[in-house]
Amino acid sequence: MKAALVGLGQAGGRIAEAIRDADRQAGYGAVGGVLAVNTARTDLTGLDVDTMLIGQDRVAGHGVGADNELGAEIMTDDRGEVLAGLDGIITAETDAVVLVAGLGGGTGSGAGPVLAQELKRIYDQPIYGLGILPGRDEGALYQQNAGQSLKTFAREADSLLLVENDAWRQADESVAASFRAINEKIARRLDFLFAAGEGVEGVGESVVDASEVINTLRPGDMAAVGYAAADAAPDPGENVNVITSTARRALLTGMSVPETTRGEAALVLVAGDPDRLSRKGIERARKWIESETGTMVVRGGDLPIRGDRIAVVVILSGIAGSPRLQSFLERATAASQAVEEETDRKNAFQNDELEDLF
Ligand code: GDP
Repeated sequence: MKAALVGLGQAGGRIAEAIRDADRQAGYGAVGGVLAVNTARTDLTGLDVDTMLIGQDRVAGHGVGADNELGAEIMTDDRGEVLAGLDGIITAETDAVVLVAGLGGGTGSGAGPVLAQELKRIYDQPIYGLGILPGRDEGALYQQNAGQSLKTFAREADSLLLVENDAWRQADESVAASFRAINEKIARRLDFLFAAGEGVEGVGESVVDASEVINTLRPGDMAAVGYAAADAAPDPGENVNVITSTARRALLTGMSVPETTRGEAALVLVAGDPDRLSRKGIERARKWIESETGTMVVRGGDLPIRGDRIAVVVILSGIAGSPRLQSFLERATAASQAVEEETDRKNAFQNDELEDLF
């Protein structure tokens, strides 16, 4: 599946770059083009992808802080420029466009849903979001921003793939080190997903093609991606259990939104050396995912890659009922009330009933 990536804001730019790097390293050629868009000049400087600074007339390259309404306004105002910049990046070869954004901040959170709406009017290809949910300890404004953005992004995009920053955060790591590790984990999952349908040189074609990924994401609303890997035995017969236990780990402990095991559609992708993959294992893994997720439609297939590891990627789509997302929504709603009360308290000093001394 040839994907065009648009990184919006700081997290968006970094993660889009990380996915492209993973794709280059694996040699899939699944990432067609990448454009990073931001309102903050400094956040674009370290990136090794095409970049575009927007909103210069409003914020002079200094960013929007965590003001996602301003992020949305700037994307609306500058959409012509962004669409023109995407001209060579979204091409006839593109199977899907993915807009990557941290939902808790300002630029990505605001710009993502606006750009999704614009692109959907113009392109026939599916327009997906890849949204990063803030961790629990990230503060009320981030939770509120993410709640608003999530709702709107899921409405505007064909599907919103979600990653929770708490899913893989190590307590003993600095924020920057955590981000690097999290971004690599996201990149690995997404790159496998995009690799569906792309031939890997010397190993032949995948038996899963882009349309299977697209059809799995068709129920809309939101989706999560799981991943796990293990060493493969040389003999396929010995890998039946390796494949089923790896699929179990991918769903139970490897999901980008933890504790999310039920949905409307799923895809199980088993990647490994074709000489080591077991048909029986793949079929059993698919059946297990079917019963565990309660989905009527579980697509499955394999992705031939080199090496002695077997990896399983699970896409679970239609996850709006996930308990983890429900608890995020409660957190975002409570945060929104807290932010409003704080604003009311600040505004109380501006009332007219008490007159200023001079
Ligand atoms: P923007 O530049 O205004 O769009 O804001 P950010 O991209 O910094 O978004 C803030 C949110 O993204 C917060 O929830 C951060 O925890 C998260 N974030 C920022 N940078 C990264 C990153 O490199 N990786 C991940 N996973 N999350 C990030």
